[in-house]
Amino acid sequence: METVEIPQPYNKNEEEEKKLILREYRALLRALKQRIKKGDKNLIRRAFEISVDAHKDMRRKSGEPYILHPLAVARIVVEEIGLGVTSSICALLHDVVEDTEITLEDITREFGEKYAKIIDGLTKISNVVDLKADTTVQAENFRKILLTLADDPRVILIKLADRLHNMRTLESMSREKQLKISSETTYIYSPLAHRLGLYEIKSELEDLALKYTQPEVYWDIARGLKETKRERSRYINEFIKPIKEELQQNDFDFEIYGRPKAIHSIWNKMRTKHVTFDEVYDLFAIRILLNSSPEREKEDCWKVYSIVTNFYKPSPERLRDWISVPKGNGYEALHTTVMGPGGRWVEVQIRSDRMNEIAEKGLAAHWKYKEGAPSPQESKLDSWLQHLRDILSNPDTDTLDFLQDFKLDLFTEEIYIYTPKGEMRVLPKGATALDFAFDIHSELGARCIGAKVNYRLVPLSHELKSGDQVEVITSSKQKPSEDWLHFVTTAKAKSRIKYYLKEEKRKIAEDGKEMLQRKLEHMGASMSQYNMNELCMFFKKPSPLDVFYGVAVGSIDLKDLKEFTVTGDKLVQPAKEVKLDTKMLVSEEEANKQKPAKGAELIIFGESSDKILYKLAQCCQPIPGDDVFGFVTSGEGLKIHRTDCPNAAQLLAHYGHRIVKTKWAKNKEISFLSGVRILGLDDVGVIQKITNIISGELKMNMRSISIDTSDGIFDGTIMVYVHDREELDNLCQRLVSLDGINSVQRLDAKEE
Ligand code: MN
Repeated sequence: METVEIPQPYNKNEEEEKKLILREYRALLRALKQRIKKGDKNLIRRAFEISVDAHKDMRRKSGEPYILHPLAVARIVVEEIGLGVTSSICALLHDVVEDTEITLEDITREFGEKYAKIIDGLTKISNVVDLKADTTVQAENFRKILLTLADDPRVILIKLADRLHNMRTLESMSREKQLKISSETTYIYSPLAHRLGLYEIKSELEDLALKYTQPEVYWDIARGLKETKRERSRYINEFIKPIKEELQQNDFDFEIYGRPKAIHSIWNKMRTKHVTFDEVYDLFAIRILLNSSPEREKEDCWKVYSIVTNFYKPSPERLRDWISVPKGNGYEALHTTVMGPGGRWVEVQIRSDRMNEIAEKGLAAHWKYKEGAPSPQESKLDSWLQHLRDILSNPDTDTLDFLQDFKLDLFTEEIYIYTPKGEMRVLPKGATALDFAFDIHSELGARCIGAKVNYRLVPLSHELKSGDQVEVITSSKQKPSEDWLHFVTTAKAKSRIKYYLKEEKRKIAEDGKEMLQRKLEHMGASMSQYNMNELCMFFKKPSPLDVFYGVAVGSIDLKDLKEFTVTGDKLVQPAKEVKLDTKMLVSEEEANKQKPAKGAELIIFGESSDKILYKLAQCCQPIPGDDVFGFVTSGEGLKIHRTDCPNAAQLLAHYGHRIVKTKWAKNKEISFLSGVRILGLDDVGVIQKITNIISGELKMNMRSISIDTSDGIFDGTIMVYVHDREELDNLCQRLVSLDGINSVQRLDAKEE
């Protein structure tokens, strides 16, 4: 369990520093020990020396010598991911080409082509954290990450180690950087770690990201875990005891223990199930590790399963057999949920030591077991990588869209579908017959008119189930259409369909482009990137192609261009200056409630410290006291979001350059609309009690109250005006202390 660490200011003298660096270097060598072959030691030493020298004048934000970072990354690569000498050398050198005088040619000369290639990959994806880059540049960077992944998975494994160490040492960064880096981590790195089967690293990344984006939530849960630790250990011991004895009697070589779940996953449960910490019943899982030979492990796992379920009744729908058919990322184990003492459901995970290593080290562990014939898991990973390469090599894939879809792919559960010849394909849960067709081949998808599932004819939109055998039916006359996008779920199908549709659109847009070009020439303006951006903004279209298309089909009227004047060859929109004053304002009535005419209660740090007009985001309804950031929207000026807004991660990761640092100034005069959801038992007096507290005791203004009751359960939503977070928290506490009220939660996530 983690405790509060108070970061010590860094103060070491040169002598102590030297010792520290050498100590870390020796620790790396020790970790590598069995893997070091003849000649390796010199190479590692050389990499270390080059790195020390290259970074000699650099320090980390914490004040430490920079070299400690590559050293730490190298150790993670070896100790936590399980890679060997080549990867640790690359880890030692991972920042030199990017940040110092050393070039790729130097690396090639010293170490050879193989190393240079990996370091090149690392350098290419290292500038993702570029606050100034615009959306498309960032999306392009993500695409690069995925491309290098497909090229040599070691690049991404080292990159993950790099990210992990940066997250572990995020404390000394500015708040803005903490938010940005954490969001990016949740957005791309933890899903990748998950897809590569690195469960430990994935959990740690998610926990650390939560710690920085929502410190209160994080520490509340951490404290909760600490406080309940005693009770939990007692329960776990009671649960384990009979199983342990039985396993010993049967001569199993095993380990059995209880393990608390990651803070992030507990938080997810609280959020999605609308429960409090005390109501999360599965705060831990029991794990049984077997030392068993590869020939016997499967049988042994099932034997253990049978012993466990002799003592505790299993829930039949919660048996997960990832031994017979491992997950797409290689994960193997047997999971079951059983009814433990005191009527509590307990999750039990059973796996062999080999399976455990795969669960912890993911892809890297597969490599270790690679000798001999490729294992089925490995070929599954290979086919996933191949699939990734296929999509990315299509130059017309819209990167942003693709990423969105791809991320969904990363997290969903899998189903197993068979071709007519009995070949197995893995698809995400919810995949349809059309997804399957695109999975086999994009041409097959494009011409698909239906399918036979288990010999029965079904439409394209038919959702497949694990074990289905599917035959695709095609027609040469078929063409993809817009509505196909509604029932495909895989990134591959979506990106192919969008590509076909775009091709169609592009043909039509050609005419519009010519018309626009003539018009612009007539006005004395050019079709420059700058002008096209202005036009996109003006007509509210996401891309020039959409502008051309709009012109071609007549939804954009070229007469509207009259509003522009031309300076040089640039289009100027005269209305632009006014925009700040009018468009940014909410309705007057609302403005009076939410915002004073002068003396803004938000301090916004940006290019100027002048007071800027802003709007509070509807999706999370921030109030003073919340951690917030400003986001420059394209049409509606600055919007203020909570850092725990459901949309925050995506905004921060994709549009870092549009983020404005913001914090609240003290002001007690203005009140903000906020809402709470109350769950409890339906009892005659309950509404009276609630309103008494709000209007009577706390003297707050209520705007609305709506209540649903069914089966004796009371589910109410109350909108109130509060001054700040403190007041809202106080309200929640008062309400939850009422008899019969089970939970009170702040409302967020309204669709914007
Ligand atoms: Mn680094």
